[in-house]
Amino acid sequence: RASVGPKYLSGLNPEQREAVETLDGPVLVLAGAGTGKTRVLTTRIAHILSQGRARPAEILSVTFTNKAAREMKHRLGQMLGHAVEGMPWLGTFHSIGGRILRFHAELAQLKSNFTVLDVDDQVRLLKQLLQAENIDDKRWPARMLAGLIDGWKNRGLMPSQVPSGEAAVFANGKGGKLYASYQERLKILNAADFGDLLLENIRIFREHPDILRQYQQRFKFILVDEYQDTNVAQYLWLRLLSQAPSFTSPRVRGEVASRSDAGEGDSPSTELVETPPHPDLLPASGEKEKTKNICCVGDDDQSIYGWRGAEVDNILRFEHDFPGAKVIRLERNYRSTGHILAAASHLIAHNEGRLGKTLRTEDQDGEKVTVKGSWDSEEEARGIGEEIEQIQRKGEKLNEIAILVRASYQMREFEDRFVTLGLPYRVIGGPRFYERAEIRDALAYLRVINSPADDLAFERIVNVPKRGLGDATIQMLHDHARKRRIPLFEAARAVVETDELKPKARGSLRDVVAQFDRWRAQREVTSHTELAQIVLDESGYTEMWQKDRSADAAGRLENLKELVRSMEEFENLQGFLEHISLVMDREGGAEDDAVSLMTLHSAKGLEFDNVFLPGWEEGLFPSQRTLDEQGRAGLEEERRLGHVGLTRARRRAMIYFATNRRIHGTWSTTIPSRFLDELPAANVEITESKGGSAWGGAGGYGASRFDDMEAFGSSYSTPGWQRAQANRNRGGGRTGGSQSGGFEEETASFSSASSSGPDFGS
Ligand code: ATP
Ligand code: MG
Repeated sequence: RASVGPKYLSGLNPEQREAVETLDGPVLVLAGAGTGKTRVLTTRIAHILSQGRARPAEILSVTFTNKAAREMKHRLGQMLGHAVEGMPWLGTFHSIGGRILRFHAELAQLKSNFTVLDVDDQVRLLKQLLQAENIDDKRWPARMLAGLIDGWKNRGLMPSQVPSGEAAVFANGKGGKLYASYQERLKILNAADFGDLLLENIRIFREHPDILRQYQQRFKFILVDEYQDTNVAQYLWLRLLSQAPSFTSPRVRGEVASRSDAGEGDSPSTELVETPPHPDLLPASGEKEKTKNICCVGDDDQSIYGWRGAEVDNILRFEHDFPGAKVIRLERNYRSTGHILAAASHLIAHNEGRLGKTLRTEDQDGEKVTVKGSWDSEEEARGIGEEIEQIQRKGEKLNEIAILVRASYQMREFEDRFVTLGLPYRVIGGPRFYERAEIRDALAYLRVINSPADDLAFERIVNVPKRGLGDATIQMLHDHARKRRIPLFEAARAVVETDELKPKARGSLRDVVAQFDRWRAQREVTSHTELAQIVLDESGYTEMWQKDRSADAAGRLENLKELVRSMEEFENLQGFLEHISLVMDREGGAEDDAVSLMTLHSAKGLEFDNVFLPGWEEGLFPSQRTLDEQGRAGLEEERRLGHVGLTRARRRAMIYFATNRRIHGTWSTTIPSRFLDELPAANVEITESKGGSAWGGAGGYGASRFDDMEAFGSSYSTPGWQRAQANRNRGGGRTGGSQSGGFEEETASFSSASSSGPDFGS
């Protein structure tokens, strides 16, 4: 029976087929890049549906980005030969969590039309809280608090569960209290942040076993892609939904990991301990305990979100959490040529903490991985631009070309270059259309219409365009709102009936309130796109930009038009706003054929014929900040990032490094990345730089590079790469990382967090 069966099964190898056809019980596919893990998941869904084992709405399928979810749906359609009607539970953790939360919003003291805040809103809100507490924002930046809160939420911790040691690190012990008042404010604003989308699910599931049960029964099959990058909150959420028979929950150590801890390569400050399942979660007597049909796929070598709380241990615990789980390994890589695969495998072999997997290809050796040095980042961008034009002349598609950078600021240089060359490009997961100021303003108007309690949105536009409603007025509204625990908008409505405001401000505030009332009434009778146009015109917002004489005003007006146009794709305003709040990995630009520009983090799961990997320099890649903060564990995560980058390439991988780079406005002389030394000479071809590079070559050429380095002078006498080399010779790929030479000084401002990953906001 092996060879017969539905067409969608016929192309699979035996192991893949086993992973697809083992529908009952837990399955873990643990396999390297390009071995078809995602393809297995998609085929599995097709199989479940065509076997009639579940309806589309009974399958919970978690992808890493919204884009991946769309692609999966598309492939599914191809496999089954017809479009799949409704897969409401196919999406990212955030989008699915958000959907569930809307159904039970009242249990989280929210209304079902709650707003999802982005990072900017979050920071603005925290600033207000800091102000109210008289905490100096310069000393204790709101952004730092946002990061802490985010970290706690990623670990599934409610305010009451934050260990006091950790709460103490902010504003002399006020961290925990601020987290609590932040949560309170969110409820008043009828808003949730990204972390809440899962955290509130977890809380509801725990407090209302009947609701949890509903979902457990609904989801007949659970599938998870990129399982290696789930964080504790996501893990707990999955555990609850999958009725894991033995239940592990995190217990958090009282101490935050200090720098020196991290330097020792300590594990994150969360450990998991065995707890018995909640009595309410045990099957009722007489009811047969069902083993959940859960299938997770992942690759420990591609775990790259440790800095955001991902726990690769989740994958290692799978067999423990699901006794009797079938573990399937896939070894054949279908994506890359021999040289590329060998280079990627050799690089990752320098990591110590890995499960170890075999990867082979039956493909040709193909072209060697190239390494090119250049004088500076501008020359690098020019070189890559030329290379792309050459590829294009050979008749290849721009869609099959990607540039993967370590830090998002590297993108600007390429964007500038592409604009000059007239090369169409798109930025994936980067600064997005919806984040531009004029778009955010327009969205704020729509948000206030949709949810009058959305104070952040109201505050953003109450005086945009200028209406003579200055800080004093806003402050007054705030006081009023806080006293009565009502939204700013309602405070405005009340205040205009009093004589607390000067006549002029009072008049214009009254107009604003009346306008919103009118728009809300109009919402019932006009389409949401028309309404948006009316709002932009009547509010004076369009006019504001029409009168603006600055160079980018025309572009902003274009963007506003595009915004209204983009709304047509949605049924109503609520659906549109929801989409905005969840979609962070939308591809920019309308071009059909374009070069893709993105961070290495955003490239997960994707593949391209041609992959450019610029900026392989110490301090940038590996990122100095990661090394400083996380020591050896950080270095290994950076190396996995390199492995992810290389394994995105089907036919050609091209690495670049520059000898000089401007980082946040300061020129630095840079040293080629230690990862270059870790590539196997046999699979790599080194090209001389026009500007002259200081790097000796791959694998074993380190000594010549060592000599060249002396040219950099005494301030670089013990740079990281040298330590790395010495350490590697001791056989580990270890590095001291956190003790820094002079080199770090200039690159310390580089932020690993600046390369935001795709799911952050999706
Ligand atoms: P990553 O770890 O990078 O996410 P993956 O394991 O998810 O990779 P896929 O993206 O599913 O791998 O597959 C990689 C490529 O190999 C895809 O182009 C896929 O269509 C192809 N592929 C997978 N399995 C087969 C097969 N049995 N026959 C032919 N092509 C295959
Ligand atoms: Mg994949």
